[in-house]
Amino acid sequence: MTGRVTLVGGGPGREDLLTLAGARALADADVVLFDRLAPHERLHELAPGAELVDVGKRPGHHAVPQHEIEALLVEHALAGRHVVRLKGGDPYVLGRGSEEVLACHAAGVPVEVIPGVTSAVAVPGAAGIPLTHRGVSHLFTVVSGHAPLTETELEHLAGLGGTIVVLMGVNSLPSLTAGLARYGMPAQMPVAIIERGFRPDQRTTIGDLADIVVSAGRARVASPAVVVVGEVVRLAHDGDAGAAELMERAAGFTAVAR
Ligand code: SAH
Repeated sequence: MTGRVTLVGGGPGREDLLTLAGARALADADVVLFDRLAPHERLHELAPGAELVDVGKRPGHHAVPQHEIEALLVEHALAGRHVVRLKGGDPYVLGRGSEEVLACHAAGVPVEVIPGVTSAVAVPGAAGIPLTHRGVSHLFTVVSGHAPLTETELEHLAGLGGTIVVLMGVNSLPSLTAGLARYGMPAQMPVAIIERGFRPDQRTTIGDLADIVVSAGRARVASPAVVVVGEVVRLAHDGDAGAAELMERAAGFTAVAR
């Protein structure tokens, strides 16, 4: 009998940010294929008895190529197993989840997708940065920094307003900031980079469009990190900013609100 595949969005890395539905799927899994950015430290307890397969990238190891992951999902399911594919964040946000779903459909394997808390929203939040704030930003755009943006994309992004969130954006930060500046984004536009969100060593580096590349280089900012460009970055805090100070910063927004 054919088994099935459940794609589980594991959230931004902390185990208690996995959904209840995701935890239930894990508890019922025969085999778990997991990514590096998904919560995986206690998988043997969350998925007792399941075979655990690390398909993610680690320093010194190569990630299992995408087509091989898809082949593995199908192969295990066709052998009658319940396969959980545990991914970081949400499977459908820059996570190649839809490719895995299509591979299951093509092989006639039943597949379900359980959403997850995406790092695009949660990691800025962990640094005190809301993606929207009334009167300041009423939209946000999530982009991949994996490949450089085109000139057309940069032009539109620079003119759109609101908040820009970049995943996988550490290496392309210089071309992003230069591109946005070229299309008229003010040099003083605040930029934050949040590394290792929700980990004990989470760190936020803050600057503006003109100086963030230098600050990030000095701080040796490294992946995984989320880059946020926009006025909302003024609200960033690591949890100990006083209420009075935050109110003062929010009041400063009236000057920039359109
Ligand atoms: N599907 C995932 C994103 C996958 S792309 C989601 O919805 O969150 C991988 C990128 O996500 C990383 O390069 C980084 O930009 C970001 N990311 C994921 N988890 C993170 C974390 N805990 N801290 C910082 N960035 C993270």
